[in-house]
Amino acid sequence: MLSTDEAFAVLDRIRALGTPVVVLSGGEPLMRDDLCAIARYGTGLGLRMVMGTSGYFLDRPTAARLREAGIRAAAISLDSADPAVHDSFRGVSGAWERAVCAIKNCNEAGIGVQINMTAVRPAAGDIESVVALGKSLGVQDYQVFFPIPTGRAGGTGPEHACEYEDVIRQVLLRYRDGDVNLRPTCAPQFRRIATDLGIEKPGWGRGCIAGISYCRIYANGDVTPCPYLPVSAGNVRDVPFDRIWNESPVFAALRDPARLTGKCGRCTYKTVCGGCRARAYRGREAFSSRWCDGLEQPAAIAGELCAEDPWCPYEPGDRRMNDHTTTDSLDLLILDALQQDIPLVARPWEAIAARLGIPEPLFIGRLRHLYAEGIIRGISPIIESRALGLAAGTLVALPVPEDRIREVADIVSRYPEVSHNFRRDHQYSLWFTLSGENEAAVEKVLSEILERTGFSRDKVLDLATVKKIKIDVRFPLVPCTKEVS
Ligand code: SF4
Ligand code: SF4
Repeated sequence: MLSTDEAFAVLDRIRALGTPVVVLSGGEPLMRDDLCAIARYGTGLGLRMVMGTSGYFLDRPTAARLREAGIRAAAISLDSADPAVHDSFRGVSGAWERAVCAIKNCNEAGIGVQINMTAVRPAAGDIESVVALGKSLGVQDYQVFFPIPTGRAGGTGPEHACEYEDVIRQVLLRYRDGDVNLRPTCAPQFRRIATDLGIEKPGWGRGCIAGISYCRIYANGDVTPCPYLPVSAGNVRDVPFDRIWNESPVFAALRDPARLTGKCGRCTYKTVCGGCRARAYRGREAFSSRWCDGLEQPAAIAGELCAEDPWCPYEPGDRRMNDHTTTDSLDLLILDALQQDIPLVARPWEAIAARLGIPEPLFIGRLRHLYAEGIIRGISPIIESRALGLAAGTLVALPVPEDRIREVADIVSRYPEVSHNFRRDHQYSLWFTLSGENEAAVEKVLSEILERTGFSRDKVLDLATVKKIKIDVRFPLVPCTKEVS
């Protein structure tokens, strides 16, 4: 582990590069006795010193000491609003309680707080409940980590990536204009999703910042592009940090989008997303059990840094990702919205898009796609017939032989008084509804239809409407539409 003096020397070399933010993190940085000394030294150099912590050891006196040492902000891990879920994920009973206390202690000491949440499962509701809890504690900044569902995280394949992308989309829409800053992390594809949604936030930066505007110094002095990419770009015990940062071939590779290969290389989003270099380096299968906690010992490069991100379901050049994402959550939101009502205004799509919080061109693009896919066959008004003076109605069933179905159906469908006409797999094979001003008008049309099709009254079911109990049918596709919009 780097000694205190070695840590000071590293801070000197960081300062030679400018005044970047220095995050004292871990593992758990509060396990180091010299944390305040390091913070104080960095602050004295003019660096912005912050920390990342579980909050487990961050009691009131510690918060006060950290503030006095110059710690400006702390990212505290809170993975769920449910203490049992957080404790179980962290593997420590009482961890949730301590994390919440740490947030309060930081607030009290004047240390800014960011909540770091690991999205343990793909559920927007989990994220919303953590944000709601955080807001009640005065927290405005959130980083939501989307771990790859492999290795220790225990998932199985690309359908999980699509689920996470869906959650990212919902969360981006939910917090696009809100009073909190939320950035998905370890999921650089969020920049592609946000771009598609027309969402842009100034502080986001590139999706994957590993080696570009960010790196990690491991406890032994190895510098790696990020904690999840344990490839050593050099060791600060051998080479000054600023030289590693400026001259390492590892960083040079990561900073050049032109070196990306596979679909990331072909992708128009590569400059804003870039794909997770850690996932690309590991490939689809080989995940170490230590990968997820970022504590794997760095080693020399032994893989392809610029390969495609195997976890990304996007195929460059094809807006639809693949078969199982024919509809995504935004499509479902749009289908829900269309079922609710179409406003009688000059620009109904603009009005619905505004209600959903998305740009009108995006809404229209999605509508076209849903139509092309056959998911929307048409958009028609539902008319309240009684209000238009059509007070009577009946449901008619005809026992049409197979070889006459087309002919009889054509005759029936020509009548404007017929609103629905269905073939059914039954002795009564054609069913249609008929409306008119009154019973006499309905009877007149029905008689004419029967005469033209050659059916006698005693062969027909004529089921006049006695009372309308339900005429409005909707299929809710996204239960939380209101929250998301
Ligand atoms: S390599 Fe992956 S985990 Fe690391 S910064 Fe990039 S996106 Fe995040
Ligand atoms: S293909 Fe690569 S660059 Fe394009 S969105 Fe996917 S991960 Fe990002």
